[in-house]
Amino acid sequence: MLKGKIAFVTGGSRGIGRAVCLALASAGADVAFCSRSAGEAVDETLALLRETGVRCAAYTCDVADYDQVAATVSQVLADFGTVDILVNNAGVTCDKLLLSMKPEEFDRVIRTNLYGVFHTVKQLYPVFCKKRAGRIINISSVSGVIGNAGQANYAASKAAVIGFTKSIAKELAARNVTCNAVAPGFVETDLTASLDSEALRGQIPLKRFGKAEEIGSLVAYLASDDAGYITGSVFTADGGLTCC
Ligand code: NAP
Repeated sequence: MLKGKIAFVTGGSRGIGRAVCLALASAGADVAFCSRSAGEAVDETLALLRETGVRCAAYTCDVADYDQVAATVSQVLADFGTVDILVNNAGVTCDKLLLSMKPEEFDRVIRTNLYGVFHTVKQLYPVFCKKRAGRIINISSVSGVIGNAGQANYAASKAAVIGFTKSIAKELAARNVTCNAVAPGFVETDLTASLDSEALRGQIPLKRFGKAEEIGSLVAYLASDDAGYITGSVFTADGGLTCC
């Protein structure tokens, strides 16, 4: 389904990002991914990717830093020749009520979750325009759709990603480039490890957290040729949490 395509995934070392890398690789794409730290998680993801037989590489890059993203994207282009699929997955939380949220805590979350998306798209925009093809998939959150107490910084960043996604979809439609967002609810990863409780699961109609693989397969579909008519859309995957 994705044979011959090159994907670049931010935050690919663990959690949803790793599942996205593996779903894309299982569909045949070569995969480059980045994270801030090198180490065990990166090595594990690389080992799992190699088992699928695709070409893969990991890069150390903080997506909040424009210059690091520019250098990393240049290196990926040099190593792989091009990029066909961009998945903006890297994201952080710093949850607390606004009363006690420090300006730097607001700034850090916006810098990673929103500016990180701007930085990668800015770098690959000319590449996709020239190819007259490309897939951009941004990982937002249901917090960005309905808001969440204690997550003003995170929800603002994820809502902004949706506005960014719809704008880029309109900007690049004439170039045959699609741009969509995925808005997960609670998914089992390091980010939500401290949240999982019976009470919270009870509020989810499907009565469970999602699995990272369930987000990965949705992203792989959006990256495929079959999804060519879908752009500017937001796909909620939340076990029914926000349906009404
Ligand atoms: P996670 O398990 O904490 O993994 C985050 C990944 O992003 C790691 O690979 C991390 O590696 C990388 N990362 C974080 N900050 C980065 C930065 N500044 N530059 C580059 N890489 C960075 O998180 P997750 O739960 O998989 O979440 C992935 C995405 O899904 C995020 O955007 C998150 O907001 C979104 N999401 C998650 C859930 C959920 O329930 N889990 C729900 C809705 C949305 P390093 O730490 O080494 O940088």
